[in-house]
Amino acid sequence: MTTTITSKVVFTVALLALSHGLQAAEVDARTLIGADNEPGQWLSPGRTYDEQRFSPLTQINADNVAQLALAWYADFDTNRGQESSPLVINGMLYVTTAWSKVYAYDAKTGAPRWNYDPNVAGGIGIKGCCDVVNRGLAAWGNKLYLGAYDGRLIALDAKSGKVEWQVNTIDEARSYTITGAPRVANGKVFIGNGGAEIGVRGYISAFDANDGKLLWRFFTVPGEPSKPQENKALEAALKTWTGDLFWQLGGGTVWDGILYDPQTNLVYFGTANGSPWMAEARSPQGGDNLFLNSIVAVKADSGEYVWHYQVTPSESWDYDATSPFVMADLEFNGAKHHTLMQGNKNGFFYALDAATGKLLAADPFTKVTWATHVDMQTGRPVEVPSAHFGKTGQAIAVQPGGQGAHSWHPMSFSRNTGLVYLPMVETVSAFAPDPNYKPRQNTANTGMGRAGPEIMKNLPEDAPRTSRAFLMAWDPVARKQVWRTEERGTIASGALSTAGGLVIQGSQKGELNAFRDSDGKKLWSFAAQTGVVAAPVSYQIDGEQYIAQLAGYGTRDYYTPNHSRLLVFKLGGKAQLPAAEALPPARPLNPIADFGTPEQLTLGADTWNVQCVMCHETAYGNRGLFPDLRYSPMLNSADAFKSVVIDGVLESRGMVSFKQRINAQEAEAIRAYLTQRANQAKAAAAPAR
Ligand code: CA
Repeated sequence: MTTTITSKVVFTVALLALSHGLQAAEVDARTLIGADNEPGQWLSPGRTYDEQRFSPLTQINADNVAQLALAWYADFDTNRGQESSPLVINGMLYVTTAWSKVYAYDAKTGAPRWNYDPNVAGGIGIKGCCDVVNRGLAAWGNKLYLGAYDGRLIALDAKSGKVEWQVNTIDEARSYTITGAPRVANGKVFIGNGGAEIGVRGYISAFDANDGKLLWRFFTVPGEPSKPQENKALEAALKTWTGDLFWQLGGGTVWDGILYDPQTNLVYFGTANGSPWMAEARSPQGGDNLFLNSIVAVKADSGEYVWHYQVTPSESWDYDATSPFVMADLEFNGAKHHTLMQGNKNGFFYALDAATGKLLAADPFTKVTWATHVDMQTGRPVEVPSAHFGKTGQAIAVQPGGQGAHSWHPMSFSRNTGLVYLPMVETVSAFAPDPNYKPRQNTANTGMGRAGPEIMKNLPEDAPRTSRAFLMAWDPVARKQVWRTEERGTIASGALSTAGGLVIQGSQKGELNAFRDSDGKKLWSFAAQTGVVAAPVSYQIDGEQYIAQLAGYGTRDYYTPNHSRLLVFKLGGKAQLPAAEALPPARPLNPIADFGTPEQLTLGADTWNVQCVMCHETAYGNRGLFPDLRYSPMLNSADAFKSVVIDGVLESRGMVSFKQRINAQEAEAIRAYLTQRANQAKAAAAPAR
């Protein structure tokens, strides 16, 4: 009798534990603030509120990482860019993919539990600058929060994937998109949006986690000057603008880095560049243009402005200040500071006091040619005058380029080494003013002219001819590089550090690697069969540690396979990927003969420069996401080219009809221009793509 009862009790407890293990998310302030008490979980985008992306788990470590092997994997139905980090909560793994889709798995076995497709219309793809990506979810209570590409904030039941509520967070008449992960604190969901290249006014909003009610909104740039601004901070910001364009176009979107800090109860976020890029075009009589290219702190409860630090005043080079943040307690000049850190697109690594915004450090982590240094007294960059192409009227090549020395790819801070592991890129771009710039709503609005090929031909010897990505270990207190890896492709990849002495990072070249945190020695590598740019996470279930990595990105170009997959590893894992197929042969560059008249070629170049460059110009660093049209067979037929550009036959894949922006004559002129460029490239024996 006693035995029976005991075994029954044991059985019930075991059952409870098992069911608890597979329970859906239950996340509250206590669990999020105390996330370090649950090192086996990954409850928020950066694991802990300080967003260090540091796993305290040690089972997988520098001594045994050679035994790290695939435990399970899952394939996805989209081959667009994959940029998301999963959440792992109570035995479930949740991940988002391109087109804002969500998938839930048993985190131990990989058994699928549910999936959710918000059915973002293919035609919405045109609203963004840089692919229909998504960078992840937030969790609160038993709900998950998704920012969909079309601007919806959607709450899902974590157990079933059922929609609990959804709200539209944007003006659908404008080119807003959401690609970033929401953050959540104290029952509020914080979300921004993108579109600064396309002429929208940036803002961040807080919604009630329970029902989606809008609680507050902070605009990052002033509104119409003749009307009262939304708050005093914007009244002050208004004085830093001139002309009458800015309030119609704006910019300064909050498209990625957001950090909530329970110690200060502030929300920190980074803002993008302005629309247009060129400062002189958007604010003709000068001015810093607040709060573009800034790090801003507001009260989490009310959205009230607290402080800002403008990283790049009067900015013209696409140096968004939107990169993800990391918080840590560090000592500067003999004093402890709760420190907010960001490796910026502009090539400087910044450390700021989280409570006051006081600048603690600002140092270049790569070659910077637009400024000599940051003046620590004023906090302002000391600029190189020739870099301001809007002032000089002269085209110039600038480092870092518009791709940025560090963009959205998450960095990681190791509590063991005190180092920041920074995915960084050496890059250069040519910038030129567009003398004919006119504001254009809902289309590329950069104000860039054509710099001409001679600029890039005459680069200094040490300037990178193509972008070169590296993983760098940066000491934020000593303010210098400790080590960096060999080249990792052309695009950066997000990083994870662990208490096992490892830094895990993918590569656009098609690998996932583990490096020793102290010296960067490569200890392990996995052939992912596709580019890997998202950041990995780590978790533990039933005594086993896992590494989860979302993969999927072109390794050579748009035409190479992109196997969008979730890859999950553990020591001694036994799963195998299907054999890699051979890369298809590089497309031949085989254009028809030039046919454009001089007028057609000029019209084609101008239209291309405005309408097509942002996605299809290889120099913009979007390699692998969009086709290089010089290689497109569509160029060989006026009808085929028109069927795509005007009639929109590829709309379901994101290439919408441009008939609202381009007429048939302009489409044909683009075809003539691209045919000429294809013939020029062929004549110059361009490397096959
Ligand atoms: Ca930008």
